[in-house]
Amino acid sequence: MLTIDCPFCGPRPETEFGYGGQAHVAYPEDPHALTDEEWAQYLFYRDNPKGAFAERWVHSAGCRKWFNAVRDTRTYEFAQTYPVSAPRPELLSKGA
Ligand SMILES: [Zn+2]
Repeated sequence: MLTIDCPFCGPRPETEFGYGGQAHVAYPEDPHALTDEEWAQYLFYRDNPKGAFAERWVHSAGCRKWFNAVRDTRTYEFAQTYPVSAPRPELLSKGA
């Protein structure tokens, strides 16, 4: 079984976690100023890299806190987990 290292609780089985999509996707400052295409881009379009990818996860069967993780999409290996307030890790390529 895959183990995920919650930054608040430590290593736990993957069944305790929920996936929350791509991390570091900022809400638009003025959503009403966006065109329909820009709004659709924000809502539905996400990166799909082969390799390191920053994702949001929630420890739903534990502390119930959200955090970010860098996972390799080729191997499922978690390289790093960090609080949502922490800066984007440097090991990510631009746009991931
Ligand atoms: Zn936790």
